[in-house]
Amino acid sequence: MSITLNRRHFLASTAGFIALHPFSANAATNQAHLRIMETTDLHVHVFPYDYYADKPRDTVGLARTASLIRGIRDEATNALLIDNGDFLQGNPMGDYIAYERGMKEGDMHPVIAAMNTLGFDASTLGNHEFNYGLEFLMKALAGAKFPVVNANVVKEMGSDPTKDTTLIPPYVILDHKVTDGSGAEHDIKVGLIGFVPPQVMGWDRRHLEGNVQARDIIETAQAYLPQMKEQGADIIVVLSHSGIGAPTAEDGMENAAVPLAGLDGVDAILTGHSHLVFPSPAYENFTGTDIDAGTLMGTPATMGGFWGSHMGLIDLLLEKDGNDWRVVSAETEARPISKRNEDRSTTALVESDAAVLASVQAEHDETLAYVRRAVGKTDAPLHSYFALVADDPSVQIVSIAQLWYIEQMMKGTEHEGLPILSAAAPFKAGGRGGPEYFTDVPKGDVAIKNVSDLYLYPNTARAVRVTGAQVKDWLERSAGMFNQVEAGAQDVVLLNPDFPSYNFDVIDGVEYQIDLSQPSKYDPKGEVLNPDASRITGLTYDGKPLDMAAEFIIATNNYRAGGGGNFPGATPDTTIFEGPDTNRDVIVRYIVEKGTISPRADANWSFKPMEGTTVLFDTGPAAKAYAADVPGVAIEEAGDGPDGFARFRISL
Ligand code: MN
Ligand code: MG
Repeated sequence: MSITLNRRHFLASTAGFIALHPFSANAATNQAHLRIMETTDLHVHVFPYDYYADKPRDTVGLARTASLIRGIRDEATNALLIDNGDFLQGNPMGDYIAYERGMKEGDMHPVIAAMNTLGFDASTLGNHEFNYGLEFLMKALAGAKFPVVNANVVKEMGSDPTKDTTLIPPYVILDHKVTDGSGAEHDIKVGLIGFVPPQVMGWDRRHLEGNVQARDIIETAQAYLPQMKEQGADIIVVLSHSGIGAPTAEDGMENAAVPLAGLDGVDAILTGHSHLVFPSPAYENFTGTDIDAGTLMGTPATMGGFWGSHMGLIDLLLEKDGNDWRVVSAETEARPISKRNEDRSTTALVESDAAVLASVQAEHDETLAYVRRAVGKTDAPLHSYFALVADDPSVQIVSIAQLWYIEQMMKGTEHEGLPILSAAAPFKAGGRGGPEYFTDVPKGDVAIKNVSDLYLYPNTARAVRVTGAQVKDWLERSAGMFNQVEAGAQDVVLLNPDFPSYNFDVIDGVEYQIDLSQPSKYDPKGEVLNPDASRITGLTYDGKPLDMAAEFIIATNNYRAGGGGNFPGATPDTTIFEGPDTNRDVIVRYIVEKGTISPRADANWSFKPMEGTTVLFDTGPAAKAYAADVPGVAIEEAGDGPDGFARFRISL
């Protein structure tokens, strides 16, 4: 398996002297180095720019990865560049092309233009390629100067996968030339086959139902791999837009890369979809993975992060054995484009590639105009100054959009028909963030860049299925936000400073009051403090007292459903839907679809009245302009708080 590294060659380049990879430097006669470079989950990130924040960002962008690609090509005599899917959707440039500019016959999609500039050899489809519909996808793919393959999305099923009519070619066998250690050229056939999670059928039901079907990844691979060998593939590389998960195959599994890597005939596997890095400690404890060797089931594998953050690399040393080529040694790596410093700032490790930037400069400029321009209107100001003391429009809009999305996702599932509630918390609500750390979008036009202000984190949408009793406990957990207030007390400090606002979930779809005279059932970490305590009163659904045994779906995010904040009922066990879409994308889609949004707080929750009792809380000084308009609560100014905050008094 091993080779002796007894000499080292250096190759002159315009960048100076570049060290050749040992496989290139030391290949013997009849041995050749084949380097496979992977980008994955680009999500339209070409410029190193965050369009939501409307500022440059060093951690993203194919233009940066491109500089790595050029350098890496110089280190090897034979290299292939492959993208692993999820390139068409996922940032405002993608939305701009899909929602505003459109794709007419013959139009070039900017991310495809950038990929053409870099000379990609092939790509596969990710699940997000289907987000804007099949017609949009096919028009975008028409501009690609490289083959795009996928084997498990089919227009017509045959008696076995190889008899299917697939949406696009299932695989390709590239004629590639490699130079061996003696300088002789050889023709080598590299087979590439692509897979996407079959869950696309549910995630993009509205675009796909009736048009295509999705096959199980492993079943499909098992059928095609021998056929590719028969057709002369010397080496087979699997393009798995499916992440690293369980080691054994399960029917319809989403993250199938490990069992896929173990199939006969697979020489190397490119993975993605999970937006993580392989090899890296993220996969330390996964069965079938070896992060030191960089293998899955012994097969060389890589995952190049997301948004262009890394370049995945697989180096194969091939040896010709009669007419066959086999892999005698392999190395894998994921190279980053930036590094995170101790103070959490980032430093770019490479400059942007000018040709790649130039290829999408026009669309970049148009996208900047798009994120700054109104895409909808709000007929009420969207601010979070009072989000912790009253029902609030900035939280309400998130709730409404989540509800709209989860309703669509539940259609046709076993959960259809259950009542759907929606949980959302104010993310920017002062506290340790300071007196300016609030959401504040004025009445009138809403621009795309405002959406990041409404939804700060790149969470993904989730739904959990819980009982009425769990709904109540979820709210009890939230109500730990407040200190206990004795009846008749004056100017009691209301908010517990140890309780972060992102754990103050408001649940829409039910009505309730919070009784501050009672102790909190939970402490700020979610541990039970007073098992018998109950602050949530008057809890109703559809005008009737909430049935503790009834079942509900709650729309939420991956943080909460994954156990973040330790909320009763919010666990991986109760999770019935793991969406591929970010909550932020859901809000953008909702606003684009509705045009004008009317995110009025519906005052579905309030404090239980306490005659003659007052409390104090601090918020941003800009809150003064809105204090009189907060529904269902009597708020007055009460001077200055500490550190630039303004103080307010509530008469309960
Ligand atoms: Mn992705
Ligand atoms: Mg509400």
